[in-house]
Amino acid sequence: MTRRIERALVTGGAGFVGSHLAELLLAEGSEVLVLDDFSTAAADTVAELRERPGVELVRHDVTRPITVPGRVDVVFHLASPASPPDYLRLPIETLRAGSLGTAHALDVAVRADARFVLASTSEVYGDPEVHPQPESYRGRVNPVGPRSVYDEAKRYAEALTAAYRRECGANTGIARLFNTYGPRMRAHDGRAVPTFIRQALAGEPLTVAGSGTQTRSLCYVDDTVRGLLALAKADLPGPVNLGNPEELTVRELAEEIRAAAGGSAGLTFVDAAEDDPRRRCPDITLARRELGWWPRVSLAEGLARTIRWFEPRREPTPEPSSV
Ligand code: NAD
Ligand code: UDP
Repeated sequence: MTRRIERALVTGGAGFVGSHLAELLLAEGSEVLVLDDFSTAAADTVAELRERPGVELVRHDVTRPITVPGRVDVVFHLASPASPPDYLRLPIETLRAGSLGTAHALDVAVRADARFVLASTSEVYGDPEVHPQPESYRGRVNPVGPRSVYDEAKRYAEALTAAYRRECGANTGIARLFNTYGPRMRAHDGRAVPTFIRQALAGEPLTVAGSGTQTRSLCYVDDTVRGLLALAKADLPGPVNLGNPEELTVRELAEEIRAAAGGSAGLTFVDAAEDDPRRRCPDITLARRELGWWPRVSLAEGLARTIRWFEPRREPTPEPSSV
């Protein structure tokens, strides 16, 4: 089925993925209500959204109950710190966003009789023993390690979403997003892509964690939000993986960004993060079959677009110290 979306609620809509989703919804003719506490949002993105006709931007912490007057056809729940440095800095807030925040977002959807889409994550697979990861794989997460605040919050959010579907008849869909990148990421959010681009543009060495042999599969943000919208329009409960199966090592990623951004410095190897997953790649058979979705933007093209966006925003090169 295809659902008509006259008005959508996007929690976390002032963030990186949420703001692109809001743009796509606007382009499709929907009105967008964004609820965000701005805790990890970029100030520039917030300012841009404020000016966009069709977007209503409300500062709200989703760990507090949500009241939405008027019609809502789809609730997209994205509010949560997402970059490892953000969730390691905001551990309790992350657990609360995934638990209380998800409950409140689900309650809105049930009251409005709206479709609910949860932005879950490949992190529910932890450090996987199965490769690539299909949705049927149950994961290998350390429940008390530092990353658990994010992984377990999302696992709980998935469990709650599934329970609301079973117990309350909620129309829910769970998307497991794999690493997504693109314009509007914060230069200092600590994730690999914006960090490497910032470093390459500044002529600094690129900080590769550990041996750099761990892999990731990177999806350009336009593809990711197209997948979220396809899931919103369908009735598929999921979970469904949304990611780009083009897998590469972190070292290869650093080298590719350095070549594309023209960085003059080399790579420098820094300590690996605790419990850093060693391999990650989505099996997207389900998304292809049920949603007719697959990524269209290659890594080379996506990186070129992202670097072009970062270029004029690069930080001024520090003055050489006078001797
Ligand atoms: P982001 O940090 O740019 O965006 C998250 C947004 O949520 C921010 O605007 C932040 O201010 C807001 N937020 C956080 N806690 C909140 C709260 N309690 N109440 C209201 N707003 C709150 O991160 P992102 O990369 O855009 O991620 C968006 C969603 O997608 C997250 O749920 C994340 O877990 C999920 N996801 C992202 C990726 C990725 O690679 N970007 C991968 C997997 C899953
Ligand atoms: N990473 C890195 N250097 C950095 C930032 C990240 O080598 O400056 C590594 C990180 O250890 C991980 C991979 O890049 O192995 C992807 O990290 P990111 O934070 O982008 O995403 P996630 O860990 O959530 O997959």
